[in-house]
Amino acid sequence: MKTKRHVAVVGAGAFGGWTALYLLRSGARVTLLDVWGAGNSRASSGGETRVIRGTYGPNSPYTAMAEHALKLWHKHEKEWKRQFLIRTGVLWMAASGEDSFERGSVEMLRRAGTKYEELSVRAINKRWPQINLEGVNWGIYEPAGGYLIARIICQAVAERFVAEGGEYRQVAVSSEELETGKWKNLALADGSALAADLYVFACGPWLGKLFPRTIGDRLRPTKQDVFFFGPPAGEKLDVQYLPVWADHRDRFRYGIPGNQGRGFKIADDTRGPLFDPTAGERVVSADGLRA
Ligand SMILES: Cc1cc2nc3c(=O)[nH]c(=O)nc-3n(C[C@H](O)[C@H](O)[C@H](O)COP(=O)(O)OP(=O)(O)OC[C@H]3O[C@@H](n4cnc5c(N)ncnc54)[C@H](O)[C@@H]3O)c2cc1C
Repeated sequence: MKTKRHVAVVGAGAFGGWTALYLLRSGARVTLLDVWGAGNSRASSGGETRVIRGTYGPNSPYTAMAEHALKLWHKHEKEWKRQFLIRTGVLWMAASGEDSFERGSVEMLRRAGTKYEELSVRAINKRWPQINLEGVNWGIYEPAGGYLIARIICQAVAERFVAEGGEYRQVAVSSEELETGKWKNLALADGSALAADLYVFACGPWLGKLFPRTIGDRLRPTKQDVFFFGPPAGEKLDVQYLPVWADHRDRFRYGIPGNQGRGFKIADDTRGPLFDPTAGERVVSADGLRA
């Protein structure tokens, strides 16, 4: 009998979790490891919600990838009988003047076969009169987009991985010696070691620390604040009234209508200061709140 290849996947975020599950399904023996657990609060994938959209500018591979991902979400929701993607639609608002990003996006959406509508300001105002459209020239609306319940999905994927026969361990992989290539077994923080045929490192913002020479500061985690506001009662800012929106006027801001009563999310995607994902203080800045 042919023995299965053993793959160790380090990191149970969006990338590691799905990689582990797909490797398992392709016939490998898989061990998935994570220091703080799938969808933990330090992980990039550990947030309450994440947007899925195809508007990514000209020549972006993300548009076709997002279209493919929408199909996979649909498939897995059906299979697992759970909802992961809240299909609010995504409205991208383009500023008056320079709109080459949006024009290029439309072409990419068309090529990817993603459903979209180009909307005039008047049409946006008619559908969503609660949005302040000052300085907006037109918009792209993707009806199939929306937001994913990120941390819950990471946990669901890890659970599914175990249910389908994968091995999950909550333990840190030691970064010492990793890059020398002079190791046979993966050293773990609990003093044990793991031997596999192949190793996949899906450690998101920690990759630079794990591989300082190969990756180092090519990958620079930064801090961007995310706010959850409690809107006044009666304001039509919930999922049944508003799409996910992206505002490309002076800077790039985006928002997600309240998910399960957790508040109206607003984030500014302008690159912030460097941030240590292990020990950095996750406190919003006064400047961020003012902006
Ligand atoms: C605030 C914020 C908002 C975002 N919004 C969006 C959005 O709306 N739409 C979108 O498409 N993308 C968004 N992104 C980007 C997206 O979330 C990330 O690209 C994605 O989650 C990265 O997943 P990952 O698996 O690579 O990394 P992570 O989710 O960070 O996973 C890495 C995992 O590795 C583990 N790990 C690290 N070191 C070790 C070690 N030594 N041993 C064992 N385990 C280890 C960690 O615990 C972690 O679970 C956002 C990111 C952030 C931070």
